[in-house]
Amino acid sequence: MRRTHFSDAQVATSETARGINRSIVLNLIRRRQPISRADLARASGLQRSTVSLITEQLISEGLVIYGSTGSLPRGRRPTLLQLNARRAMVAVDLRPSISTIAISDVNGRFLAQQSIRTPSDPNTAARVFSEKTRQLIDGHPDLVFEGIGISVPGRFDAQRQRVVFAPNLKWPEFDLKAPLQQATGLPVDMENAANACVLAEVWFGDAKARNLVVVTVSEGVGIGIFSDGRLLRGANAMAGEFGHVSLDEKGLECGCGGRGCWEVYASNCAALRYYRASAGSDGPSFSDLLSLAEGGDRQALKALDQMARGIGRGMRMIIAGLSPEEIVMVGEFTRLWNRMGPVIEKAVAESVLIGDAPRVRPAAAEPSVARLRGTVAMVLQKHFGPEPRAERRQRSSRPRLEASVVRHN
Ligand SMILES: [Zn+2]
Repeated sequence: MRRTHFSDAQVATSETARGINRSIVLNLIRRRQPISRADLARASGLQRSTVSLITEQLISEGLVIYGSTGSLPRGRRPTLLQLNARRAMVAVDLRPSISTIAISDVNGRFLAQQSIRTPSDPNTAARVFSEKTRQLIDGHPDLVFEGIGISVPGRFDAQRQRVVFAPNLKWPEFDLKAPLQQATGLPVDMENAANACVLAEVWFGDAKARNLVVVTVSEGVGIGIFSDGRLLRGANAMAGEFGHVSLDEKGLECGCGGRGCWEVYASNCAALRYYRASAGSDGPSFSDLLSLAEGGDRQALKALDQMARGIGRGMRMIIAGLSPEEIVMVGEFTRLWNRMGPVIEKAVAESVLIGDAPRVRPAAAEPSVARLRGTVAMVLQKHFGPEPRAERRQRSSRPRLEASVVRHN
């Protein structure tokens, strides 16, 4: 695929292309490890000498190490390369009630994990997260830490370096990045939870599509957009807030201040509201509601059916606006995919104006793991994708390289 955009002639002259070749090699090692240099050259279409140069540099940086030796039919034994699993990162899943802090190696394997009650304000959160992060790091003296990735239930505006829109967290605009960086000495990256799930799908999941939409359903409804092989953020990083498009201007009030937003009908909170209305009781947590439904409780099933229809109601916006090849659903509700999935699939099929309906499927990982994996991918992108600054420069003139492009090689 890379041959479509980049010729080897560009390799020799362009710094950007060198960075891209490095990404290609690094991603191939990640996907096919352990792998020989010869196989890297074959799979990438790059010259053997180019591959050698890049791998030597990666080895000297400690990102790649020599692994086991492979065997060839006639005698020679190539040295195989693999990622250095001692390179690690801290992954944080910031949620409205319970947050998770984990340590992951470069392959997305979680080595330690801790859940904590989310502090009620950003200052306390910065302090608590710093303390927990330090504890986890101190417990793993054998690892080299690359950075911290945080998934936020809101939008992180990279220009202003602040979380700007997090209605379900009920915090004012805040900067979690600088205090955490200061306290831990590690670079911090933040990303919207739905975007993090997109990254998780592209890096670690089954996603093969270049046009992929992730719909996360929890306290609210979030959309992450992977369009033409790149993550779409829009101005103020606000692209994808379909959850706050009003479907009924006389509807219930939403956390964003609007009325009748899609998430008012489709979120976990909506299902609990439906349950309370029909069962007349205070109602359980969403997880308990799912368990009740699994046990055959009629009121719980009714509430979740209504939620599934609520999710389906907004799908037309996604289909008409983004025309994805694939829609990945992330949320606890996917536990009942056998029942709720067909309702959503039907709504999607009915929304298609032309061509085949996109595939709709639940995410491979459970929601918390998907978000944490996404933050790992976020930190890794620095090594595995082009330099962020170079990326900005080239954005207008040249397609951006993403992991999905590489994996199809
Ligand atoms: Zn809203």
